[in-house]
Order: sequence, then C-alpha cells, then structure tokens
Amino acid sequence: MTRQGRPVRALSRTELVDQLVTRLVACRMRRRISQGTLAVLLGISQQALSQWEGRRTRPSRRMQRVWALTLGEEPLPERPPVRETCGTQPGYEHHRRTGEDQCDPCADAQVEYMRAYRAARAGRPGPAVAA
Ligand SMILES: [Zn+2]
Repeated sequence: MTRQGRPVRALSRTELVDQLVTRLVACRMRRRISQGTLAVLLGISQQALSQWEGRRTRPSRRMQRVWALTLGEEPLPERPPVRETCGTQPGYEHHRRTGEDQCDPCADAQVEYMRAYRAARAGRPGPAVAA
C-alpha cells in the first residue's frame, strides 16, 4: 500500500480502520494465533472475527481498540467526532456524555461557558470581550 503519486491528504476514518484491519490481520498471522483463539480472547465468536477480518462487518470503536491492544498493536488515535453543535457548550456536553474526548472548539466553548457561569454566580457581568 503506497501513496506515491497521490496528493497527500488526511485519511478518512474508513481508510484508517481499513489500514488497522490490515495491520491486525497481518499481526495475528505473524504471531500464529488462530482466529478461534483470538476470538476467545476478544470475547466474540470466531464468525464475528472472520467478518471483521474479511471487512464484511466493522467492529465498534471500542472493539477496534480492544482488538488492537489484545494483539499488542497500537490502536487508532482517539479522535472525537465533530458535530454541528461543536464549538458550543452543549457540544461539549455531548462529547462528555458519550465518553469521548472533546474537540478543541468544544473545549474552548466550555472554558467560556464556565467563565460566564462563574461571573454570573459572583453577581457581576462577565467580560464584554473574551480575553
Ligand atoms: Zn466538539
């Protein structure tokens, strides 16, 4: 798999997962672990693992991580999804509720929100212009 001759761009999540699957299948074979054994370690059926490896189904983010870590491979970096609400305090809450890391715009929004909240509680107006 080479990227020669193609413009460099960020890989989509699908492409990243595809690369991860390629890496994990190669790792399992290199280490001579059977699908059945690995499936037991992952707590899933061999059929499910076979479908992941054959790209007929795609494991959840959490299981992608468990799969990689079980094989001693580096999982994909955790990157929070970006939503329409990103950059707002509800956007921040959404990340938090779903157990994700917040994205930078949401982290900033939360800082602003807390600043305004503390100012309101202190009974004085918040700064007119954000620092
Ligand atoms: Zn966000």
